[in-house]
Amino acid sequence: MSRFHDPCEEWSRDRIEAEQLVALKRQLAYVGEYSAYYRNAGLGDVHSFDELPELPFTTKQDYVTAPNDFVAAPRTDLRRVHFSSGTTSSPAPVYWTGPDLDRWADLYARAAYSHGVRLGDVYQCLFGFAWFVGGLGATAGYQRLGCLCVPGGSSDSVRQLETMLRMGTTAVGGTPSFLLHLAEVAEREGFDLRGRGPRIVMTGGEPGAAVPGIRRKLEEAWGARAYDGYGSIEFQPIAWECEAQAGGHLAEDFAYAEVIDPETRRPVPDGTPGVLVLTHLDKQATPLVRWWTGDVVVRDSTPCACGRTMARLPGGVRGRADDMLVVRGVNLFPSAVEDVLRRTDGVTGEFRIVVDESLVDSATGFLTGIKLELEGDDALASVVAARIRAELTVRATVVPCAPGSLPRSTHKSARLVRRL
Ligand SMILES: [Zn+2]
Repeated sequence: MSRFHDPCEEWSRDRIEAEQLVALKRQLAYVGEYSAYYRNAGLGDVHSFDELPELPFTTKQDYVTAPNDFVAAPRTDLRRVHFSSGTTSSPAPVYWTGPDLDRWADLYARAAYSHGVRLGDVYQCLFGFAWFVGGLGATAGYQRLGCLCVPGGSSDSVRQLETMLRMGTTAVGGTPSFLLHLAEVAEREGFDLRGRGPRIVMTGGEPGAAVPGIRRKLEEAWGARAYDGYGSIEFQPIAWECEAQAGGHLAEDFAYAEVIDPETRRPVPDGTPGVLVLTHLDKQATPLVRWWTGDVVVRDSTPCACGRTMARLPGGVRGRADDMLVVRGVNLFPSAVEDVLRRTDGVTGEFRIVVDESLVDSATGFLTGIKLELEGDDALASVVAARIRAELTVRATVVPCAPGSLPRSTHKSARLVRRL
């Protein structure tokens, strides 16, 4: 009997890789036969992981252009569809078969178990249910562990808080934006969550508990332990933190992960930042090979203090390869700015990073600094500017804005605005 949800969580590194290779060969044979997209791409056999980088990447653009070409299971085997929301394209369907849904629920149960959720817990799901992949996915996993589930969704803040106290909710999951918003409402409306509210908070959908400043803020506001979960619609879920809070454990039995240098497009060693590229090892409906997530991560394959052996992503998603700003040669992600803000006393409102012509050096075309719009007064603006300069070594012009004047988001926050 394993002390973890799934015995594979403590396989040796050799065993993980051996099982992955068997699964990879089986999966590539499957997609080569049943997925029109990969059949047309002419995927060859792969005999070792060293040969995988020879196969082409699959991008979001490839997917949304012809989503039905990726369907590898018969129509009558499909049980669920969610829609991938592209910013520049119409939503593309992503499918699950019955066994795919079962696998998803089991991985989510594994995640919840690693946060300390057990039979008898009450889970209030604060991810959206309508059109969003998070709500149903998370709920299925917690049900599997034996939790009483409250499908709350991501609105009706006061009702959510009342329900938490009435039902004795012990675990919640949601986007960090909504969870922080809810904590603000609790404070304002006089709900004292500390000691009476959930003991476990799981974030997903955007960089959350893996960012130290956000974790601290969530844990203080909720009086709970906060854990990061990471997934995308194409891969549900990908990685989640355990009680050691030392980086999300990758689901290495479900997906094979490569970390790729965005410039050279070759794999980088552990410890070096790169783009996470994933290949399904066990997906029937819309399997993907070398999926370019666009998310920048750092991998650590050494065993975790918790005893689990699946590789981790310390610090979670460091940023989007597309969002990365280069300011006078310094790589800067919006999440790093957010982290500084979350750790600065007095920052309570919204912010956004604006990139416009005034910041571009006309001689070199490089950015000379960043501009930050921040809810607060002049004094707070100078504190934040100094702190960003000290910690991130970039010049920041901080524009104070009236409280409540910047756009709120309870879902994926859009905090980088480009006006170039
Ligand atoms: Zn661990």
